[in-house]
Amino acid sequence: MDAARLIDEVKRHGGSLQLNGDKIRVSAPEPLPDNLRQELKARKPEVINFLKAGPRVNPCHPDWSDPEDTRSRFFELAGNHLSAGKTQDEADKLAFECLLADWMNSHPVEVTEGCPHCGEPHDASSMPYLNGEAGHIKIHEQCWPEWYAGLKKRASVTLTTLGIP
Ligand SMILES: [Zn+2]
Repeated sequence: MDAARLIDEVKRHGGSLQLNGDKIRVSAPEPLPDNLRQELKARKPEVINFLKAGPRVNPCHPDWSDPEDTRSRFFELAGNHLSAGKTQDEADKLAFECLLADWMNSHPVEVTEGCPHCGEPHDASSMPYLNGEAGHIKIHEQCWPEWYAGLKKRASVTLTTLGIP
């Protein structure tokens, strides 16, 4: 299992991985299966490198100010998934997710002094988030789920207003 696949597996179990210096912080609603934990341990350097590299920056992301360009990128992505054997629904969903990640990556959030969610100073629980092209910012662990969900929601709304189905 390579690093990307491992991270997907953790997500499939409802968990997430965050980089904490040179350590990986695993959060999961229930303990992860033993084999997955062992695999994570065995491939720790690889996973760290993968997390450090952040989401793959797509060199051909669309011109976001041009809805036509954004739409054609969406259809191109969905087309790739369709030809890889996905159903139309699945292909649309995957293309949307991909475009969403791309959008968030090219639209970093404003960097604030404290936690971007509650505004309070950072503490030991603060976790790094790769803020697209602007590098890492930190968010309290307890603020993270709501903050990230809000961020994703706003990005989805923006894509929808650009005419992405
Ligand atoms: Zn906070």
